[in-house]
Amino acid sequence: MKGYNATKRILITGGAGFLGSHLCERLVKEGNDVVCLDNYFTGRKKNVEHLMDCHNFELIRHDVTIPLFLEVDQIYNLACPASPVHYQYNAVKTIKTSVLGAINMLGLAKRVRARVLQASTSEVYGDPNVHPQREDYWGHVNPIGIRSCYDEGKRVAETLFFDYHRQNNVDIRVMRIFNTYGPRMHPNDGRVVSNFIVQALRGENLTLYGDGAQTRSFCYVDDLIEGMYRLMNKDDFIGPVNIGNPGEFTIKELAEQVIALTGSKSGIVYKPLPSDDPKQRCPDISLAKKHLKWEPTIKLAEGLKKTIEYFKESI
Ligand code: NAD
Ligand code: UDP
Repeated sequence: MKGYNATKRILITGGAGFLGSHLCERLVKEGNDVVCLDNYFTGRKKNVEHLMDCHNFELIRHDVTIPLFLEVDQIYNLACPASPVHYQYNAVKTIKTSVLGAINMLGLAKRVRARVLQASTSEVYGDPNVHPQREDYWGHVNPIGIRSCYDEGKRVAETLFFDYHRQNNVDIRVMRIFNTYGPRMHPNDGRVVSNFIVQALRGENLTLYGDGAQTRSFCYVDDLIEGMYRLMNKDDFIGPVNIGNPGEFTIKELAEQVIALTGSKSGIVYKPLPSDDPKQRCPDISLAKKHLKWEPTIKLAEGLKKTIEYFKESI
């Protein structure tokens, strides 16, 4: 049952994390009634500190693996560590977060008839042998490797979303997020963009894993949040849909750009490539363009500059 007014009540799990905090900000600004849920494993209250005084923002310390009962109209399910360093720290917990978290949020959505969006990932494609990746590609995933807790956890979550949809008519949205970066990444997050910028600003050598020929496609956070918002609010399209920037760069090129843009005297030091590290990754975003009229607008150099400014002030 809706309350007295037409304000949308929105739950964001993982809301104090990097992406979640930007989403909270956007939805609070729009006047929605926003509930941010987080267990602070990789997220920080600091990320949403500026929203604390808003009458339409609430923060709940809760673990998504435990059921929760709330009256809401929309659920964005973002709770899950996203950096390999952090999701491998407690692999079993990572799977529980993806799988039990999905079951709990789908159960809640079913009960209160909310629309629920899953923050899935390009990792469902594993180390892809189809390039660029389209949504109808089933992937090439090692089920027993060190990345599997995350990749397979997210794959099962997608399965659960589609089964709840088919079986119980739950109103789902599934979004496959490709590498995203920007302000409010944790300085110790461990992902490549934040690592390189922090190292360059501190005058330390940039740690390049392998020979740096592996590729990624980097999307700036504002573009990503716009795609997420559009998917949630589109009535006739449930996904799965790739949201990412199709501009593809080698990790070595990224290191060189970061050194140039920061004006750092840092060099590059080569470290072993972690196992199962995907060799190439680039989204085909035709579906997002067609159904959501979405495509990224912020080029890598521009996004890196904004991110560098953030880290200059925060480290
Ligand atoms: P992040 O680590 O900054 O945010 C994840 C948030 O979830 C954190 O605030 C963390 O404390 C919280 N969390 C973790 N386990 C939880 C639990 N059991 N209960 C409650 N909260 C929990 O990472 P992010 O980059 O903001 O990623 C957000 C979501 O987007 C994740 O689901 C991630 O898998 C997905 N994603 C992100 C990217 C990316 O490049 N940023 C790419 C693909 C997918
Ligand atoms: N990487 C790197 N140095 C770092 C961190 C990451 O060379 O300090 C590499 C990593 O091996 C991978 C790429 O950068 O090939 C992207 O890594 P990230 O952890 O950001 O994300 P993912 O591998 O999940 O795409």
